[in-house]
Amino acid sequence: MGRRRRQKIRRRPQKRIPDVYQCPDCGNAAIKIELFRDKSLATVKCGSCGLEMTIDDVSSLTEPVDVYGSFIDKFYEGDKTEK
Ligand SMILES: [Zn+2]
Repeated sequence: MGRRRRQKIRRRPQKRIPDVYQCPDCGNAAIKIELFRDKSLATVKCGSCGLEMTIDDVSSLTEPVDVYGSFIDKFYEGDKTEK
């Protein structure tokens, strides 16, 4: 009686992953990224502290995570006013 062990098929959650990232300013995962590929820009907005930034180097291949990377770069760039 060779009962074959059936592999359980894991159902993929159909839930959309919310594009929420951690805010470098307040530390909350409240960053929302909106991509406007047709306008080659993206907006980054923190729902917690209100930090806002527009990223304008968006291409057709840009993913929200890339926007987040640019945002982080810009954030620390602008913050590096070492005196
Ligand atoms: Zn914030």
